[in-house]
Amino acid sequence: MPEEITKIASTEREARSFIRAAREGRKRIGLVPTMGALHEGHLSLVRAARRTCESVAVTIFVNPAQFGQTEDLSKYPRTIDEDLEALRDLGVDLIFLPSQDELYPNGFSTYVLPPAVADPFEGQFRPEHFRGVATIVLKLLNLLPADVAFFGQKDFQQFQVIRQMVKDLNVPVEIQACPIVREPDGLAMSSRNRYLTPDERERAVALSDALAEAKRCFDDGATSSSTLAEYMSEILRKAKITKIDYAEVADANTLQRIDQIDRPAVALIAAYVGRTRLIDNTLLAAE
Ligand code: AMP
Repeated sequence: MPEEITKIASTEREARSFIRAAREGRKRIGLVPTMGALHEGHLSLVRAARRTCESVAVTIFVNPAQFGQTEDLSKYPRTIDEDLEALRDLGVDLIFLPSQDELYPNGFSTYVLPPAVADPFEGQFRPEHFRGVATIVLKLLNLLPADVAFFGQKDFQQFQVIRQMVKDLNVPVEIQACPIVREPDGLAMSSRNRYLTPDERERAVALSDALAEAKRCFDDGATSSSTLAEYMSEILRKAKITKIDYAEVADANTLQRIDQIDRPAVALIAAYVGRTRLIDNTLLAAE
């Protein structure tokens, strides 16, 4: 059955009129925020939204506020034609493609101070990152007040930051996490994977291998975070991945480091493969 034509919008006015129409039709609205360069990971969020929401909006916006001074904002992949093509048959109702000026006009100066869960790990290595993420997500939720917003577990700390922000600021939206989509060899899909040379691409699988090993050891009874951290670092080093921001275990809810895995926990890695910084994680379910 042919899908309805997807509407493409770029202004606040168009976004509001889309929401008004969906509300009038009493449709449950799902929102999928992305920075584009779409891959199967992003598309899995769209499919999850489609399953439970009658109206689905996808946003594509490379958010400058979440990139540090030395980070790859100008080089971040922008593949809008391919993105529109990838979304074509997924039954998306709205694609919101705002300009930078639309979201950050002259005079813009209000930012969200992110919750404590933003402080460790990514917060340590990318100090302004979650301020930018929390700000853009709150703006998008104000522009497109959906019933449910979908985020990938791939960015686990980001998901926890958004969940806490929405709770703390009483934003009327349900936040749903979706599982990590991986390449056949285990590498977590990421827009940044396209930066990898063939040799780096082969070595990059060490991140997911390390996490799988940590999970296996935990399932076999290991409960010491430092033991799992050592195993993970060893696997990374064997693949000549030496610039490791972190390869550790933390409380899955607070993201505080723990010595013993006696509660729901997450193993997290951020490491450079060549010049490309990749992140990945796996949940370690404790009794
Ligand atoms: P990004 O475009 O990188 O900002 O990602 C947009 C959304 O897609 C975020 O909620 C990510 O967590 C999610 N995402 C990115 N990669 C994956 C993946 N491999 N599996 C599942 N979700 C993903």
